[in-house]
Formats: sequence, structure tokens, C-alpha cells
Amino acid sequence: MVVSPTTDALNDSTKASWISAAESTASGEAVPDGERIIAVAAHGDVILQIEHETNTTKHVARFRISAPALKQHSRYFERLLQAGRFGEGSRVEEQHKSLRERYQSMAEVPDTELPVVSVQDVGRTSTVKSLAALCTDFLYIMHGKDTQTFPPVTNLANLAIAADRFDALEVIKSYAKRKKMIRALDGKTTPKADNALSEEKVRQRLLVAIMLDYPPWIEKYSARLIIKGWVGRDAELSAALWWDLPQRFEDELAYRRDCVLETIQSLQSYFLGLYTSRERQCKLGYDSSPQCDSFQLGEMIRFFTKTGMLQLQGALLDTSEPPVPYAGDLFFLLDTLRQVPEYQIDRNHNHCGIRTRITPLLDLLQECLYYVSVCPDCWASDRAKHAWIDQKRPLLWKKQSFNLRSQGHGNRHADLRVMFTATERDWS
Ligand SMILES: [Zn+2]
Ligand SMILES: [Zn+2]
Repeated sequence: MVVSPTTDALNDSTKASWISAAESTASGEAVPDGERIIAVAAHGDVILQIEHETNTTKHVARFRISAPALKQHSRYFERLLQAGRFGEGSRVEEQHKSLRERYQSMAEVPDTELPVVSVQDVGRTSTVKSLAALCTDFLYIMHGKDTQTFPPVTNLANLAIAADRFDALEVIKSYAKRKKMIRALDGKTTPKADNALSEEKVRQRLLVAIMLDYPPWIEKYSARLIIKGWVGRDAELSAALWWDLPQRFEDELAYRRDCVLETIQSLQSYFLGLYTSRERQCKLGYDSSPQCDSFQLGEMIRFFTKTGMLQLQGALLDTSEPPVPYAGDLFFLLDTLRQVPEYQIDRNHNHCGIRTRITPLLDLLQECLYYVSVCPDCWASDRAKHAWIDQKRPLLWKKQSFNLRSQGHGNRHADLRVMFTATERDWS
């Protein structure tokens, strides 16, 4: 079936199936994508056939498009359709020449007589129900037209991925910006809905922010992934691109998470070290007792072990597996540490344990966690300087010389990074 060029639009059922890509079948859609031609440009001079293979299916969609429009916005199509070179460009040029001899204008040429250009693979999108609908939105924007619907985040992410595949990200970026698409999606998200977003939804939002340039989401959702522990797994190659965030985001976020965990763990080591040292920790002054320190050390070990933060291991022979990294929420972890009881060997020994001493340090760490995200401005201006993963690790960080309120935006980044990435930390 051929859709008349004058219709020049996507019919409603196709729209619905794109929107509900993950849901059940759209009603009344009997024609497979590949058999009809969607007129993106009624006067178009080329039939573009887009093929996309997934694990289970091969999708095909065909469009009447304007070659000059595609060439203008996509370096991929510019190269593909360049006349005078081998292959596609020259063949298309030949066919156009003969069409011009028989027709007054391209508008008169029926779809069936136009040159067909095939391209494969729209990139690492998720499995979309209708390839035609995804590509229609993409091609509409390439032709300077508005999309038929306002794409939800998943679709916008897929659109960005497809555009990037065809080297046409800029035109989608400026379209989304002009239409204030992301800002509108952002505004529609209530705080409650935002907190309830699944890992996949958060990743889609971050991908959209990275590819289409929306700084507020870069800051917010990069922090979310680090805090929630939604990082550091290997994605399958067939998984959508948001499971393997581009521009080294995936590695950077996983690294930041590891650094934070190491920092929290160093706090535990610090206190264990204090109470196993010769230095008296008991606060009773004149009457201070080594029994109090031993008692506190015992309770501390019991507490850390119970919360899963510590495991004791013999040193004669290594028989243990390395521990699985903590996978939960970092704020929850700090809260767990806050619950360390005020142990007392007897009623005279007040504040001899770690509770009084660890609380301000946990406050400090908690505040630092609010700044652990990727800063979109600095990331954009000088990535090498702001990627933790590319920096040499400082040898020693000292709490005494640390001030989170130090002057200057850049200084705060740097001070924070030194704390989280140091190979050794002095918490005294
Ligand atoms: Zn004491
Ligand atoms: Zn910054």
C-alpha cells in the first residue's frame, strides 16, 4: 500500500503504537511497516528504506524524503548521497536525470519510480514496536517539520540514539531546545514521581540530558545513579544505549561510587585503628581504663559486623572470596552508621565510644554526597580536569585542612575530589 503524498502525515494508529511502544498491540494497524511508504516530504526525490534488525525481528520502514534536507543536517547522508562518488550518490543522480526528462517536477513522480536508498541499523535503541514511527519523528525533524506528538522520555532517548547513529544529533538537539521538550518533561514530573523513577527511567533521562544537552538532568541523575548504586555493571551489547552511557559517563559514575564507598570504609578503619592502638581512647581522664577501650572495641566490631560492613578473616591462609561491593543507597549506609549505640562499660564512662566522634564525620560525608554528581558546566568546559577517573590519586587527605565551604566553584570540586579519591585519609 502506498500512502498518498498529500496525506503527508502519519496516521493515528501509527502514532499510538510509537507512544505505547512497550504496551500491547495498537488497534487497527494491519499494514506492516515495510510495505507502505510514509510521505515525509510530498515532493521528496528519494525513497529511504530503513532496516533494523533486533534479536528476534527484522523491521523495515520506507519513507519519501528530500535528499537535500537529509544532506543538510546529517554528515552520514551527506556522504552517502554525495553525487560524483561511487555507489549510491551517482546512481541516485542518474535516476534523477532520467526522471527530470519525463516529469515537470518531483512532485509529479510517483513513489514507485523514485530511486530507493537503503540504510541499515538505527543504533542502540530499545526495541521499539514501530520502527516507522521512530524514524518518522526523526525524519520530520530533519525536514524542519514538527513531530506529530510530543515524545515521552523513552522516545526522546531513542530519537537521540538514532540521530547520533546518522550523525545528525545537532538538529535534534536544537529542535528539542526550541520546543523546550526536556524542560516540559521535567516540569511535568512531580517530586513524588521523580523519587519513584526506576533505574531504567533515570538512565534514559541522563542519556537524553547528555546527548541533547540538558544540564539540570545531568547533575541530578548522575548523582542519583551514584547514590543508588545503579552503576558498575556490564551491559549486554544488545541493550539500549542508556544501559551503557556514552562519553565515558558509565565509567566515571562507577568510579565515583567506588571512591565514596572507599571513603566511608576508611572511616571504619580509622576507628578500628584508634581502639586497637596503644593510645588510650577512654574519656574518663584520671580514671581512664584500658578495659573501657577493650569493651568499646568489642562492641564496635560487633556493630560493624552486624551491619555487614566488616568481616573478620584469618591471616594464615586466604580462603575467602572478596566481598561483593555494597549495592544499596549511600544515604541509607550513612544512616546505618549513625545508629551505632552509645555503649557504656558502666555508668561513669560517658562518651567513651565512637558514637559521639563519628556523628560529625557522618554529617560531613552526608553534605559532601550532595556534591558528588557530575557538574555539567565543568564537564562541558574541561572534561579532563573534572573527570575523577582521569586524575592521579592524591596520597593523603586530611580532615583538619578540609573545608567544604572553600571559596570558588572549582575549588570545591577539587577539594571534594581529593577527599574521595585520596589513597589515604586522616580523619583526626
Ligand atoms: Zn571510658
Ligand atoms: Zn562545576
